[in-house]
Amino acid sequence: MRQQICIGDNLRLERRAGEARFICSCDRDLGTGQVNFKEHCRVKESSSSDIGPGYASSDPEMAGQMCFREFFCPGCGVRLTTEVALVGSPYLWDIQPKL
Ligand SMILES: [Zn+2]
Repeated sequence: MRQQICIGDNLRLERRAGEARFICSCDRDLGTGQVNFKEHCRVKESSSSDIGPGYASSDPEMAGQMCFREFFCPGCGVRLTTEVALVGSPYLWDIQPKL
């Protein structure tokens, strides 16, 4: 039996060949647990105002500095996670396992 930890509906951390790896529900390997799995995803980046009504900043200068990122599995296309971040900033860590 494989050791695994479910992180979300479509993402898990699983030990394979002695190493913890991020795995999509389609079984696509999204890299070692030592690296942010978002680095292995397809990414759609849009304006934070595209999230929907009520999410846009009332400060136009700040709104222009923020973006909405969606991370998709490159194997099956399922959206694995989202984040709101500063434009140009590194991807945020949702989970950083200490292995
Ligand atoms: Zn997938």
